[in-house]
Amino acid sequence: MVEKYRHLYVVIEIEQGEIIPVSKEMIGEARRLMDKFNQKYSSKEKVVGIVLGNNIKELSKELIEIGADAVIYCDNPQLEEIRNTIYTKVISQIANDKKIGGQVESDYAEDFTRPRYMFFAADSIGRHLSSTVLAELDSGLASDINQLVIEDIEMSHQQKTGGAKETYEKTLEMYRPDFSGFLWTTILCLDNRNPAFKRDYHPQACSIIPGVFEPLEADSKREGQVIEFVPEIDEQDLKVKVISRKVIQSEVDFETPRTIVSFGRGIKDEPEKNIKLVEQLAKELNAEVGITLPISKKPFSISQSLDSKYMVPDRVIGTSGHKTSAMLYIAAGVSGAMQHVWGMKDSGFVVAINPDEDAPIKDECDIFIKGRMEDVIPLLIEEIKKQIQIVEA
Ligand SMILES: Cc1cc2nc3c(=O)[nH]c(=O)nc-3n(C[C@H](O)[C@H](O)[C@H](O)COP(=O)(O)OP(=O)(O)OC[C@H]3O[C@@H](n4cnc5c(N)ncnc54)[C@H](O)[C@@H]3O)c2cc1C
Repeated sequence: MVEKYRHLYVVIEIEQGEIIPVSKEMIGEARRLMDKFNQKYSSKEKVVGIVLGNNIKELSKELIEIGADAVIYCDNPQLEEIRNTIYTKVISQIANDKKIGGQVESDYAEDFTRPRYMFFAADSIGRHLSSTVLAELDSGLASDINQLVIEDIEMSHQQKTGGAKETYEKTLEMYRPDFSGFLWTTILCLDNRNPAFKRDYHPQACSIIPGVFEPLEADSKREGQVIEFVPEIDEQDLKVKVISRKVIQSEVDFETPRTIVSFGRGIKDEPEKNIKLVEQLAKELNAEVGITLPISKKPFSISQSLDSKYMVPDRVIGTSGHKTSAMLYIAAGVSGAMQHVWGMKDSGFVVAINPDEDAPIKDECDIFIKGRMEDVIPLLIEEIKKQIQIVEA
């Protein structure tokens, strides 16, 4: 059978001249997937890093050391800063370039049309870029993925197959937690084989949540191909100019403090008062304050000073925010959805405050205090103050 789609392309992001961690993680997972793939299907499909920027050729070696078989790089001063329009255009050109895809593996050069799979980072740049690139390539995209499997799938579907039973070989099963993390959704990007509206959906693409997969150890003995791509750029593509760029360091620090006090939608009955209680508890414990994702969407109306200090994305703990391994993690009014748990499960000791005994956080904590935070936190603060006095006496 003629196979038009080959290889896994991984779109790499660079920050201040360095490959960012999620890009290394994606290469690691791509390597693991494609090693299994090649063994199972007796093929030699490749992991291909795609790097755009200015003076970035040197990064190709690093990508090969951590698992890429080939790197397609595009070195151009116009690509120094990430601008969506031009990046979308160049990445789409690379994906559609049969010649360059053919260079990746000469055995597949004759039939190569496009990559089989494509990975992007699920960060602010990658989420935007993945959607515009896949719109340009007219294929499907699954966002915020944290588990991947390649399988042969047998299915019949009214739309996709016209009701007939079909085997979709080498399908990328893309998993993401949904419905508040209580359900796993599997997303498939399948060609339409229904004779009434036949068309292909390739590459099968997704954006991948940072911190989920492990990067590989660098191995300086690994070898691979480094291929230059020269894009076609016209003036129209460069209308957006970057006048200045400032990297703002977050004031929130989840690295240093040994304790984190997080709050969630359980503040709802008295949001202002409850946030102040959390703030006070954090102060007594010399702790940083974390939040759940819904809190960063500002679901409650509170005073501006508390709002801008606490209801901010920088404080989110979980797959969409930070991962912590604090010695003590206190979760007040947090249900314990899997996306949040991912961010705090490496903590040393976990205390949860929640009136609902069936809340999933109960399975994640060392001490579960059944009660409302407005009742429990003042008692905790009182007790901590007493204990501090005893220790200091
Ligand atoms: C792609 C994706 C990524 C996501 N990423 C993240 C992420 O990184 N981080 C994250 O946190 N979420 C994330 N989410 C959202 C996540 O699925 C949950 O919806 C969210 O964590 C729930 O937040 P919560 O615990 O504040 O609210 P809820 O689930 O509404 O829970 C509130 C809890 O408060 C308790 N409560 C009620 N009253 C009180 C009271 N008086 N005192 C104490 N407790 C009380 C309730 O019993 C309940 O258990 C993500 C979702 C998706 C789809």
